[in-house]
Amino acid sequence: MYIIQIASECAPVIKAGGLGDVVYGLSRELENRGHTVEIILPKYDCMRYDHIWGLHMAYQDLYVPWYDGRIHCSVYCGWVHGRLCFFIEPHSQDSFFDRGYYYGSNDDTMRFAFFSKAALEFMQQSNKRPDVIHCHDWQTGLVPVLLYEIYQWHGMAYQRVCYTIHNFKHQGIAGLNILQATGLHRPEYYFEYDRLRDNFNPFALNFMKGGIVYSNFVTTVSPHHAWEAHYGEFGYGLGHTLHQHQHKFGGVLNGIDTDFWNPEIDRYIPYHYSKDDLEGKAKNKKALRERLWLSHEDKPIVAFIGRLDDQKGVHLVHHAVYYALHRNAQFVLLGSATEEGLNNWFWHEKNHLNNNPNVHLEIGFNEELSHLIYAGADMIVVPSNYEPCGLTQMIGLKYGTVPIVRGVGGLVNTVFDRDYDQTHLPEERNGYVFYQTDNRALESAMDRAIGLWNYYPDEFEKLVIQGMNYDYSWNYPGKDYLGIYEYIRHK
Ligand code: ADP
Repeated sequence: MYIIQIASECAPVIKAGGLGDVVYGLSRELENRGHTVEIILPKYDCMRYDHIWGLHMAYQDLYVPWYDGRIHCSVYCGWVHGRLCFFIEPHSQDSFFDRGYYYGSNDDTMRFAFFSKAALEFMQQSNKRPDVIHCHDWQTGLVPVLLYEIYQWHGMAYQRVCYTIHNFKHQGIAGLNILQATGLHRPEYYFEYDRLRDNFNPFALNFMKGGIVYSNFVTTVSPHHAWEAHYGEFGYGLGHTLHQHQHKFGGVLNGIDTDFWNPEIDRYIPYHYSKDDLEGKAKNKKALRERLWLSHEDKPIVAFIGRLDDQKGVHLVHHAVYYALHRNAQFVLLGSATEEGLNNWFWHEKNHLNNNPNVHLEIGFNEELSHLIYAGADMIVVPSNYEPCGLTQMIGLKYGTVPIVRGVGGLVNTVFDRDYDQTHLPEERNGYVFYQTDNRALESAMDRAIGLWNYYPDEFEKLVIQGMNYDYSWNYPGKDYLGIYEYIRHK
């Protein structure tokens, strides 16, 4: 099969969060299974060019219709750790992708509407006719709309679209001008409720809703989150739309790329180890302490890695730092804040705790350091408010770092409480789960984890190994996505 992924991220060259990991990891798995995969991305000025091999101009003059004129673009091509990627660079005064960051402009909807249009125009003009186009999140929600309404009449009648939603909270809410810019026009048609009209704001169009309505299949990134989005509050207003399209909606758990996330071969950690020999993990713990100036004492290290964002349960993260110290454990936090208030808050805490040898707060994004933390820590907390899938707990399991999670979204599908899980045998359990959003709930789970580490080290090691036994690689999800592709291809 020939598959093209269209996305706003692809790890490690463009990564703001899990989306980038998924686009890369899934593509690699599909290729390993003998399929042809290409990835179309924006050419941001701030992406990690050091991760692209052989970048060269592939298509010099791509003219993309935009409003009443057209924008001249160039398309570059290069390999990102073996994956063939095309990067679209528009030459216009808008500087859509030359802003020094990936997201966060007032005109983000315009930027990614343009990217969606340009990606289709590129495929059309360069004669790329994949069996399946797989697009991701609100940034590419307009791809199936444009394909169905415009490009199928320009030689792309047989392409099918799988649309994956990684985060329902950001949906791409825009006004009328998007229709004029992209050449869709006809507001009376698109402002119908069963097309793109936002379910709550009657004056707005919703990209993600367009993605759901127009795609041949829609997935979100875990079965439990599919249920939550459909029936609960986490669809952020799209529950009704999902309900109308439930026959083509499902959850597929993300995987982790085990070439990249694997303590046996990880090139960012000083000591390799496996579940049969955990000595290397202890040495990495020492290395982590040395790197972050933590004291060398007989204590567990609890970690948090993730965006400092309301979604991630920042108040509980904050509480976890102090509670770990209170329970005589150490804490390492690696987090990047997207919002100034949260950034200031954690910088304040960092200054406040600066001289404490049992805690380190690292504010910012640091891929290399994240690997050492996964390898060196004993436990990782994921107290999210909502979590469509969550990769950090799966990476933690792979690295023998016991997850302490809140029972929401994909965390429910991947972490099974050592003491209370009803659906798994004791030898299949792999972490700790709590449900409420208050401090006490988190404390009780942390108590149990830290208690086991302190008083029953052999039992703790057993739990570590049970977690490492889980296969959360792309193996199963890769098969699931291929099943979906086959299904929509023959519809
Ligand atoms: P989300 O996509 O909601 O941000 P996920 O758990 O799905 O969360 O994916 C997070 C990914 O980003 C993981 O690979 C994690 O290691 C990485 N990550 C998150 N924050 C940081 C950071 N500050 N520095 C390095 N890596 C990070």
